[in-house]
Amino acid sequence: MRLDTKCIHGGVFGDPHTGAVSVPIYQVSTYKQEGIGRHRGYEYSRTGNPTRAALEQLIADLENGKRGLAFASGMAAISTVLSLFSRGDHLIVGDDVYGGTYRVLSHVFSRMGMDITHVDTSDPDQVRGAIRETTRAVLMETPSNPLLKVTDIRKIADICRERDLLLIVDNTFLTPYWQNPLDLGADIVVHSATKYLGGHSDVVAGLVVVKDEELGERLHFLQNSIGGVLGPSDAWLLIRGIKTLGLRMRQHESNARRIAEWLRERSDVGAVYYPGLPDHPGHDTASRQARGYGGMISFDVGSGERAERILSRVRYFTLAESLGAVESLISVPARMTHASIPAKRRAELGITDGLIRLSVGVEDVEDLLEDLERALAD
Ligand SMILES: *Cc1c(COP(=O)(O)O)cnc(C)c1O
Repeated sequence: MRLDTKCIHGGVFGDPHTGAVSVPIYQVSTYKQEGIGRHRGYEYSRTGNPTRAALEQLIADLENGKRGLAFASGMAAISTVLSLFSRGDHLIVGDDVYGGTYRVLSHVFSRMGMDITHVDTSDPDQVRGAIRETTRAVLMETPSNPLLKVTDIRKIADICRERDLLLIVDNTFLTPYWQNPLDLGADIVVHSATKYLGGHSDVVAGLVVVKDEELGERLHFLQNSIGGVLGPSDAWLLIRGIKTLGLRMRQHESNARRIAEWLRERSDVGAVYYPGLPDHPGHDTASRQARGYGGMISFDVGSGERAERILSRVRYFTLAESLGAVESLISVPARMTHASIPAKRRAELGITDGLIRLSVGVEDVEDLLEDLERALAD
């Protein structure tokens, strides 16, 4: 089954009992047992729910994995995965991972005795150099946020295999439509499905996929024990969103490519970060390991004042956090998503005050270009 077909026919198609072509929303918490302990696969909806199960099978199919698990948010998914580890375990984590991931590691899991080292995962030597006796896993994102740095998943997977470490890849930015980390050697894929998978700014959700059945069982044990599960209505919204994933991702990407090329031609714009540009440092790796470059662009307009002026002038780019939905969004990472990182550290990472991040939507690209033209004119 090819990818666009899988978005529609993957997982569970419709309802065998009625012929409904959409999976029903099983808005239910408990299930009748024929006798004590005798049931039809479902006993309580924290443990399992048919609508959630359909979504879990769908994401497993899309990521070429064995087991999918759905959570109430991306952070619930990531926190459940991190609960695989124990006091004294050491994790190597990308230095520009999502702010919420950074926060839960540094303020929750480290308090429980886990050790974290942040490195630039786009440099495999830094990952290798950070490994200790107690290291258990590497957690990374590619491309990263907001500078779209690309990490070679295969290279990091090779290092992990040598040292028996789990490789966890947050695949939120590209989705399984463009990139399949499990095929490149990762053990666990996590998603904030709030972003492209949902795609319509109407649901908060997280997904996890693994290719190893035993690891899947351990994660299901944690999902059921911790309880951060996705409700059936939100699971249904995600299934609906994923049906058009291919259409949307192709449009996000062709719009983003046009805008990135247009920005690069302008003399009043500094660096433009988009892995689809041939001179992006991660372009070759991105071209090798992914089928597309996604819809996220960052660019530097020189100063915080100018960035603020541009944000106040755009009409179709909504000033908001988040990303990956049909509507275009615009933000200034230094003052929004990355404000909690100390200024000095931000400067080291290259997240300047004049850096603008776009989540390019699926509107007509001519309208988006006109909007940016008007906003950038001084
Ligand atoms: C948004 C995001 C998360 C967190 O997901 P929520 O659904 O907001 O909890 C994790 N990773 C990345 C890359 C994200 O963009």
